[in-house]
Amino acid sequence: MVASHTWHPGTGRIESRWPVPVPLEADELLSTWLVRVALSQGCDPLVLTGELWPKWRVWTLDLDRGVATERLRILERMSGIDMSALDAASLRIIAIALGTTVPGDVAVIPWILALGSRNRQRHGGLQYCPQCFGTDNSPFYRLQWRLAWHSCCRVHGAALLDRCCHCTAPIEPHRLSPPQSLLSVCSSCGYDLRACHTMAADAGPLAFQITADDVVRCGYGKYGEFTLATAEWFFLSRYFLMLVRVAVRNSSCNLAGCLAMLGADILGMRPAVTGLGFELLPVGERAVLLAATGKLLAAGPRHLLESAQASSLRSATLRQGLPNLPAHIRDIVDALPNQSRSRKANSKTGEIAPLPRKVVTRIWARLQRKMRRIS
Ligand SMILES: [Zn+2]
Ligand SMILES: [Zn+2]
Repeated sequence: MVASHTWHPGTGRIESRWPVPVPLEADELLSTWLVRVALSQGCDPLVLTGELWPKWRVWTLDLDRGVATERLRILERMSGIDMSALDAASLRIIAIALGTTVPGDVAVIPWILALGSRNRQRHGGLQYCPQCFGTDNSPFYRLQWRLAWHSCCRVHGAALLDRCCHCTAPIEPHRLSPPQSLLSVCSSCGYDLRACHTMAADAGPLAFQITADDVVRCGYGKYGEFTLATAEWFFLSRYFLMLVRVAVRNSSCNLAGCLAMLGADILGMRPAVTGLGFELLPVGERAVLLAATGKLLAAGPRHLLESAQASSLRSATLRQGLPNLPAHIRDIVDALPNQSRSRKANSKTGEIAPLPRKVVTRIWARLQRKMRRIS
């Protein structure tokens, strides 16, 4: 039976130069597969990679951003697994689809969880589902557990975890060493993560995750009636994420009211404890942001324009000082008044009165024609 997969099919039986061949499982993540290979040979991951690539300090880097061709060729020769299959187990192809090149030296890549590496120690960047581990013959990490829009396991309808439930350490399988042979074990305290309890996944973040996965696979996504290329769709989603975080920090502002009108639960959210970038946030904090972002995307551009008008937003509020805005947002921002406009502000509150509905409809009709030319 061929295992079902989302990102790559893995490999069947392989002829390897290593004593114990370790086929790549469907959707398995490259770096953690290498750990599995090392432990299966009864060797430390550091020793294995030192033999493969002397002088390359693999575990201080993010190997899953992609491996250069000459190094991949060495891995192909030793493992007996085709280079293209190994490359497909990295995040390189997905990052390109998102419109991101993957240089090795940038700390954070949009939509890819950041490891926050310091030497071989990490602060996060990897998630897991205990129930998935429980059904694996040899527990392995999935590629999608490194994607920042993933906060749930679709198979088990469970919220993902990003720490050991026993000692709260981040997940660092590359620090396991023999005689340990299972990747499901916490490298800090030795607890078997299969025994961790998970909560049921919330519908909001799961819906966003499913949509975003589809956008990567199909090469396009929707915003209202418009079709956006994958990179544009993720650019728009990232813009909404930013907007939600701004609104949550000041939940009494007009922007918060506008986003709440579109279905985002701004009042029910708390600002991130650390204020870190999205890719560095704990899974629970990302999940609520993703749910709100999903609402804004689903509302579409016309409702955004209407609620921006009804909330008396100025163009600067939606622009947020950004040099580049998503195409469909740019047009909505241009349709909103800026401070120098002649529309009269309320002398007490300084707010601009909302436009009558028929004026909004007229603006919308004009924007629609403009947006069609873009998409
Ligand atoms: Zn699962
Ligand atoms: Zn632990």
